[in-house]
Amino acid sequence: MSRFEPNLRIPGPTALPPSVREAGARQMVNHRGPEFAALLGRIQAGMKPYFGTTGDVAILTCAGTGGLETAVVNTLSPGDRVLGISIGSFGDRFAKIAEVYGATVERMSAEWGWAAEPAEVRERLAAGGRDYRAVLLTHNETSTGVMNPVAELAAAIREEAPDALILVDAVSSLGAVPFEMDDWGCDVVVTGSQKAWMAAPGLAMVAASERAWAAMETARMPRFYLDLRKHRELLEKGETPWTPAVAVAFQVDEGLRLMAEETPAGVFARHEVCAAATQAGLEALGFELFAEPAHRSKTVTAAWIPDGLDWKAVNGELKRRDLVLAGGQGKLAGKIFRVGHLGMVRLDEILAAIGTIEEVLAESGRLPAPGAGVAAAERAAIAVEAHRSTAAAGAR
Ligand code: PLP
Repeated sequence: MSRFEPNLRIPGPTALPPSVREAGARQMVNHRGPEFAALLGRIQAGMKPYFGTTGDVAILTCAGTGGLETAVVNTLSPGDRVLGISIGSFGDRFAKIAEVYGATVERMSAEWGWAAEPAEVRERLAAGGRDYRAVLLTHNETSTGVMNPVAELAAAIREEAPDALILVDAVSSLGAVPFEMDDWGCDVVVTGSQKAWMAAPGLAMVAASERAWAAMETARMPRFYLDLRKHRELLEKGETPWTPAVAVAFQVDEGLRLMAEETPAGVFARHEVCAAATQAGLEALGFELFAEPAHRSKTVTAAWIPDGLDWKAVNGELKRRDLVLAGGQGKLAGKIFRVGHLGMVRLDEILAAIGTIEEVLAESGRLPAPGAGVAAAERAAIAVEAHRSTAAAGAR
């Protein structure tokens, strides 16, 4: 990495490909004119397969949190009974939003580092009655590096609470891993431009099922800027109700073009390879990963900071060498660090990151010799590739 291009390994905002950066620098267009309408149409069409929906995808100018708020205020009424399934700090945030707007939120929290268990969710819903209006789920818990099995969780919810709306925070996963909103029966799904979409922060993309659109007609939580009905109405004209972040829309459009060129399968495979390499590399360097092995995230890896390691000093040295990692959030601050591997991430950037960590640890006398981390990361990447090609050959 050059001095001016750090290896930005945080779980969003992610580094941008050159053509996406150029797209963001384009001259403005009339956001109520044909050029923007065409752009919005392309973003819609490009996004739908990643959501796994044939329904509309609203493009809102706000952070991912605004997208979560959109899911809540559009579908719920004060006093509604809601089950907030939380596996980390973003799950807690989703539940908090519903609470702030007056929902009666019951929390079901997994130990941080673990995914939600479909059987436990089934049990909880069976015991708790069938009158939950909504269940809140996090697909990828960025604070812990855990990816929830949304398909299985949604199936459990559908079985035990068939009328509950399933609202999903897929901010840091959508676009990096397969998602089938319609098939899995999810009702509102939210993502953000600065995550897998290779664009700057500024847009939240929100899709809703027909059930959710119907719920919006009777939902009584206050909403104006985030009113999805206004977005849907204007979408028909190729517009957004309020002035959108046009430059970010240019970037998302270009990001989607790059993703189409790579193919969704290629994008998913690249994320899988980078995740496996990161995890194997860190483990070979002696780090204990925070997330349970069965549900490790494909977009962010969290690792414990070992006892006795002066992380502040190590991290300072990593930054001096242009490697930027993320720290722990909330109660995990100072206990874990996180490596982002989403968006335009390439394997060589992961190998470089592992190599830099290895060098710094070796210099501080914590490793006998550098080399093992990068070698393990490379082996893991090769194994994932080999597994995928065998599976692909078997499917032919
Ligand atoms: N949900 C998840 C899973 C996230 O990772 C994030 C951001 O990291 C958010 C919600 C909030 O997004 P934003 O910071 O854009 O509000």
